[in-house]
Amino acid sequence: MAECAAVRGLGRHDEVPGSMDGNYYVPAHPATIKDKTMAFNKLSPAQAERLALLIEECGEVVHIACKVLRHGYESCHPQSRVTNREELAKEMGDLRAAMILMCRAGDVEKEDVHHHADDKLEAVQEYLHHQPGRLFPSAGEHHAG
Ligand SMILES: [Mg+2]
Repeated sequence: MAECAAVRGLGRHDEVPGSMDGNYYVPAHPATIKDKTMAFNKLSPAQAERLALLIEECGEVVHIACKVLRHGYESCHPQSRVTNREELAKEMGDLRAAMILMCRAGDVEKEDVHHHADDKLEAVQEYLHHQPGRLFPSAGEHHAG
């Protein structure tokens, strides 16, 4: 039997406007909620803004990484003359800035991000075919805010 997010514990239904329908908690339609600050996801405008920035920068990294795959690192836009390598570094920096903002605000713990990065380096090592040397440990590579 499927349960809605509120009943599963993703949102406590005593904090989210709505009503019970049998065993199911049905969140109120947003248009009927008087307190407009109480969204079902309980994100503050600041949290939502940081997530939007993170998503935007992830998209920009994907975009320029695809350009590198298609045209190479040294290819550049004919008007700007900025190489794909430079653009990728810029977008990776932008993404890192979004991550730093989220860590500083307490959206995620910086130590958790570092821990998961180390775990990934260790786990992915056996599935990479072209990366020389050991990837893990990566001590000394953590500088994010
Ligand atoms: Mg950017």
